Amino acid sequence: MHRRGHIGLTLLGISPVLYVLLPEKPLLAVLALGVFVIEPLPDYDNRLRWLEHRKTSHSLVMAAFVGGICSGLGWVLGQHITLPLASLLSAAAAHDQAIIAQLADQLALLDPATMSLIGGTIGAGGVLLHLLADAMTVNGIQPFLPFSRIRVSFSSLYSDNPIVNVGLLVLGWLAVLVVSILATPLSDLAAQIGGFLYSTIG
Ligand SMILES: [Zn+2]
Repeated sequence: MHRRGHIGLTLLGISPVLYVLLPEKPLLAVLALGVFVIEPLPDYDNRLRWLEHRKTSHSLVMAAFVGGICSGLGWVLGQHITLPLASLLSAAAAHDQAIIAQLADQLALLDPATMSLIGGTIGAGGVLLHLLADAMTVNGIQPFLPFSRIRVSFSSLYSDNPIVNVGLLVLGWLAVLVVSILATPLSDLAAQIGGFLYSTIG
């Protein structure tokens, strides 16, 4: 799959996550966007001479490897950044500064165990979303390398198919648009506009 298709599929994949997280845990929703940093990583095999394109870089082993690294990184961030920052802010918010107190509450949710889980999910999830998009092409991927050469390909589409690439991108942005209307205060605004139009037409 080309970059547009990959981005489209990642947007589609992250939309339900954003829908769940945005209303109550907006900071987690922002962290989830880290998947856009991870997702392109498997194609860096093009730049590394010792890695063959779409081989082990495009496997479940790679997903577990990146997930493990990100999980460890999450733990370190939770231990040394988010929790200390949360207690710092909650102390600073003593004089009823509601926004800072809210931010402190959000940060306090990000303890090392949670951050490790988030990191692992983003790391493995980002690579899996990449693999899924490449598995939709005629060349497919070999997800069980280096243990098995079994090839997985869900369709006979070529990775440079413009309709599929642009189609996925458009679908992805539509999904994000729908989610941002449904899961944020925009939904109240949309309901008000809808009610106004309905009363005007009716
Ligand atoms: Zn790829």
